[in-house]
Formats: sequence, structure tokens, C-alpha cells
Amino acid sequence: MGKKIKNMEISKNGEVAFLTFPSFSAYPFVRHAFSTRLGGVSKNEFSSMNLAFHRGDPDKNVEENYRRFCGAAGFDYNTLVSSAQDHHTFIRRVRHEQYGTGIWKPKDMESVDGLITDEPNVTLVTHYADCVPVFLLDPQKHAIGLVHSGWRGTAAKIAMEAVKAMEREFRTCPDDLIAGIGPSIGPCCFEVDRPVRDRFAALTELHTENFIHEDGGGKYHIDLWETNRRILMEAGVPEKSITIGGICTKCHSDLLFSQRAMGNRRGGLSAFMELVDAG
Ligand SMILES: [Zn+2]
Repeated sequence: MGKKIKNMEISKNGEVAFLTFPSFSAYPFVRHAFSTRLGGVSKNEFSSMNLAFHRGDPDKNVEENYRRFCGAAGFDYNTLVSSAQDHHTFIRRVRHEQYGTGIWKPKDMESVDGLITDEPNVTLVTHYADCVPVFLLDPQKHAIGLVHSGWRGTAAKIAMEAVKAMEREFRTCPDDLIAGIGPSIGPCCFEVDRPVRDRFAALTELHTENFIHEDGGGKYHIDLWETNRRILMEAGVPEKSITIGGICTKCHSDLLFSQRAMGNRRGGLSAFMELVDAG
């Protein structure tokens, strides 16, 4: 059992530390984790658990980090399937045919910001450094989803697109879904200019006026966690079934990579989730 950090739990296995939602741990047929900076082999600005390829860290380091992370958090490296994120809203259903995609096998698609599956032993992997990870679990139909919801994805309601995709593909009832909103830039640190503020203010059905704060001087703070929570509720997920992790990447940049804290000289974090085959 891990130690509590905000509304999540931090566990350590050897040097590797990872975050989980206690609300998901109640279901034995799902395994999930969000990475931290701790326990990898990368150096300098990538120190040390960098899970982002093509940022200047040698591929062999990133691969070794994936192996170490998988070993520590209980995932099988051979079953990883990655997204191909570009801040749009396409949700891809993946199966074992996609094993390795974007990790140890080249990407086969562009513009995949969300992944869903109902197949056991397919490990969904999505990537972050301030954007919002949304974890979805349907405990009735045994299906899962992982969503990369940056400010653009949030404004375009990608979390709702994922719920709709699960309804379509797995006959998920949104009322059954359990959701976790993971570590990202928090309302404390997500400062934006007027054009971004206007995109959120236009989402009047979410009552965004309650979580856009004007600082003066043309600067605003936006709460992406609360926005995603309301988007999930609009999609039919019960309020009681949604956990906001409450961990700000910028405020915890010793533990988590943050674009806003570190700029472009940084590594990347990943979210992982799989259905566990009961046999
Ligand atoms: Zn913060």
C-alpha cells in the first residue's frame, strides 16, 4: 500500500515510484498507474524516468525506462500500445494486434489522443507533461479508456468523445463508469491569455464562469480538472464516480515533469492501464 498524496496514492517498488487512484484499486481486473520522474536511467533534464521518445534522450534509455517502469508497476512491456497525440479528439479502439505500437514498433497512425479497449492484457499508454490524463473504467462491461486532454482537447471535450466511443464500441452505460482525472497543470498554475480564456468561456453549458479566474492585466487562471469533471458529468458519468487527483505537475516538478516548470528541456510522463485476464 502506498502513501496518500492529495487524492491519489504514491507507491514505490525499488527506486520506481508511481501514482494510482484508490477508487480504481477496488477492481481486481484492472491495473493502472501514472509515472513519476523517479527510478529511471536517464540523466540531466530527463532525470530520471523519462518515458518520452524523440526529445533528445537516447532511445535505449527510454526503452530501459519503460522496462523498469513496467517491471515495478506490474505491466508487461510486450503488451504496451501507445497513442499518437496531437491535441485532437480521435479515440482509437486497440487490440493485441497493436502490441508495441509507438514503443517498440513504429506508430501506424497519426492523431490518436485517446485509447480504448475491452481486451485483457492490452496495456494502453498515453503521454503527458502538464496535460490532463483521464482514466475511464467500465466495471460492468470490463472496458477501459485513457485520454490525453490538454487545454485544446479539454475545450473540444475529448473526455466526452471517449465516453461516446465506449458506448458505441462496448455498449458502456455512462452511469456505470468510474473516472480518474490525473496529475496535470493545476488551477493554481494554469495561466492563460484572453484567446484561450474565450474558448473556455464559450462552454457556457459547463458553467465555466465558475472556474475561470481573472487575475487582471489580461491574464486568467483556468481549472482544467473541474472542466473535465463537468464534461464527464455532461457525458453521463455520475459525480460520485469521478475522482480529481488534485496533483499539480508544476507545483510538484521535483516529482513530475512539467512543461510550464521546465520548458522544453524535460522528459515525459506516461499513464498506463490494462484489463487483467482472470485466466
Ligand atoms: Zn500548481
